Amino acid sequence: MPDKLRYFIQTYGCQMNTNDSERMAGLLKSVGFEESSTEQEANLVVFNTCSVRAHAEDRIYGRMEELSERKKKGEDVLVAVMGCMAGRDKNGELRKRLQTADLFFPTPDMVNLPRWIAELRPLWSISGDIAEDYLKIQPLRQKAKQAYVTIQTGCNHFCTYCVVPYARGLEKNRPAAEVLSEVNDLAAHGVIDITLLGQAINDYRAPDPGSFSPFNPYKNHFASLLWEVNQIAGIERVHWTAAHPLSMDDEVIDALTLPKQVNYLHLPVQSGSNSVLHRMNRKYTREHYLDVISRVKTARPGIALGTDIIVGFSGESEQDFQNTVELFKECDFDISYTAQYSPRSGTLGNRLYQDDVTEDEKKRRWQVLQDLMEENTLRKNQVYADKTLEVFVEKVEDNVAYGTSNELKNIRAINADKLAAGKIKNMHIAKALTWLLEGEIVF
Ligand code: SF4
Repeated sequence: MPDKLRYFIQTYGCQMNTNDSERMAGLLKSVGFEESSTEQEANLVVFNTCSVRAHAEDRIYGRMEELSERKKKGEDVLVAVMGCMAGRDKNGELRKRLQTADLFFPTPDMVNLPRWIAELRPLWSISGDIAEDYLKIQPLRQKAKQAYVTIQTGCNHFCTYCVVPYARGLEKNRPAAEVLSEVNDLAAHGVIDITLLGQAINDYRAPDPGSFSPFNPYKNHFASLLWEVNQIAGIERVHWTAAHPLSMDDEVIDALTLPKQVNYLHLPVQSGSNSVLHRMNRKYTREHYLDVISRVKTARPGIALGTDIIVGFSGESEQDFQNTVELFKECDFDISYTAQYSPRSGTLGNRLYQDDVTEDEKKRRWQVLQDLMEENTLRKNQVYADKTLEVFVEKVEDNVAYGTSNELKNIRAINADKLAAGKIKNMHIAKALTWLLEGEIVF
């Protein structure tokens, strides 16, 4: 039996997975494990997987080969694979390729992990009370001043390219009282920067709307929750992701003007072509999306905008792609995360449509948008040159501060010798680059 039980968690994918891994860390700590700084020293290695694209899954198969070699040499290491791969593996095909894993389970089933470990290793001393709902597990967070708070898991939209509704199930919203209690607790422990997480976060419907204050000006539950979070003393910056364009109603747009809201909105568009949007089952049109962006810009002039785009979706013609390019220009995005379409087994897109855009053409379209984005990003960043911006200092190393502005642009300030991390400061921007604003903190 090992002297100490140590875990190592490797996380792939989105911020939601990061927050789930923090919950897993909290769970393991509560039953007697401590964190290992290296995978080699861990008795339990957990892979929290992402299934959004094929290469994210391929990396897990590669890692399993390495772990298999260690096991063959006689090392007693338990391997657990959780997250989206396990969630979406309805026919057991993925599991067959992951024989090295001792455990394979969707994220919400993490509550069973201590029992499974105890069954596999009866001599390891596992004990503790475990919540029945994984969202009630206290996350063990890595950062002192910043925190992710999941308010919703799963999704009802079934976009035809997406594995999330299969991997995470239908939308489930946490009670507002529970979310607000978590944020209050984080604020009491010094957190000042909060990111609320959900798959289509502005679809949020509170199971307990009676928890909102009678003074709350909104009826929309998501806008109401944002207003409540804004009232919490100690919290200074609020960000949320990811929004669905269909649910950007007037109140959610108005909530972008709440005082602690960062000056940034991430609103995935995926395509600028109505026929592609229809095949993707996005349920809105290009005109709807442009109208939302126009209303957002009116409500909060100067807001930075980000989006997600998929190029090379089934049936995407050159004209469809050009419509996306035109939409990009019209919205004038600060940043876009562009992906080349990769069909995922089990999704409607894979069942209904041919993956008929060649890989070379997907790459070309990706590059066109990437070049456009980088040109845009630099041009938009240059607006901040010689201006003073409010920034959140996330870390200080060798007297240099790193963090983000309210527009979520990366910053680097060279005069941070008197500065501690985790503070909101003003910064004079001397130089604006594509991926960095450089300058000095104003003391
Ligand atoms: S809204 Fe669409 S893309 Fe987003 S998680 Fe739901 S199904 Fe996936």
